Amino acid sequence: MNSTSAGRFADLHLHTYFSDGTYSPDELVAQAARQELAVVALTDHDTVEGCQPTASACHTAGIEFITGTELTAEQAGHEIHILGYAIDLQHPRFLKEIGKFQAVRQNRIREMVQRLNQVNVPLHADQVFALANCRAPGRPHVARALVQAGLVGSLDEAFERFLKKNRPAWVPKFKMSAAEATELIHEAGGVAVMAHPGLNRSDEVIPGMVDDGLDGIECFHTKHSQTISEHYLHIAEKFGLLVTGGSDCHGLSKGRPLIGSVKLPYEHVEKLKAKVAERRAATSGQFSA
Ligand code: AMP
Ligand code: ZN
Ligand code: FE
Ligand code: FE
Repeated sequence: MNSTSAGRFADLHLHTYFSDGTYSPDELVAQAARQELAVVALTDHDTVEGCQPTASACHTAGIEFITGTELTAEQAGHEIHILGYAIDLQHPRFLKEIGKFQAVRQNRIREMVQRLNQVNVPLHADQVFALANCRAPGRPHVARALVQAGLVGSLDEAFERFLKKNRPAWVPKFKMSAAEATELIHEAGGVAVMAHPGLNRSDEVIPGMVDDGLDGIECFHTKHSQTISEHYLHIAEKFGLLVTGGSDCHGLSKGRPLIGSVKLPYEHVEKLKAKVAERRAATSGQFSA
């Protein structure tokens, strides 16, 4: 670690109300400032809509901002979340492809509501869309709409009775392959990182993802114990992967806000930025940010 990075920390896994978090970009950045974070990355599911306003709020607050997203992918039958960092927000093919995932998410909301109606739960899709008010709605928005309409008593009850896998309103989500997600992130000038591997319990998928171009692994996460973090630090070293970390804060939607629960030393951010520079140098002039 050099002298400029000492004592500086990042949170590279954060959500706002542009996906299923509750904070606005301004609220998120205010919380980041309270936690004295030097760097944040926004990783809303299947969208980069919140990046521009978060970048502006960070600029005002004197916090470094890294663009990002969290893509839902599949590898050997496992659902894998892939974080993309330092993405060019104007990249046409990237925007076109995530637009497809957003359409899939919107259609899935309609299908979940139809299934609820079939079991005599009178929710309307417009109630969910009005509440979600974003391009990448998901099950947490359906859960909140059910609570708001007085049809269930809590978010937990909504998931337990209706939304969990194999419950009446569960609808599987279309997923691209991990290789496609990685390739898409690279094409948009970014680096691809496997999110919260400790939640997947599927380490056997990692070598294949590395072969497909995976750049890093999220060793530090709110739900990783110290032992789990150390396990993935060893894996990162073995495969020569970047090390990242973040709280996966969704604002107030999961009880207490998680921002501040993970503080990634800045040396890892420097390595991530070096990797981005290396990749962009190899394809010079293609990116707008
Ligand atoms: P989706 O992307 O639409 O499938 O929704 C996934 C989101 O739902 C994630 O943010 C999860 O944390 C949240 N989620 C999944 N299962 C539950 C649960 N049982 N209770 C509360 N939230 C959940
Ligand atoms: Zn989420
Ligand atoms: Fe995730
Ligand atoms: Fe997340």
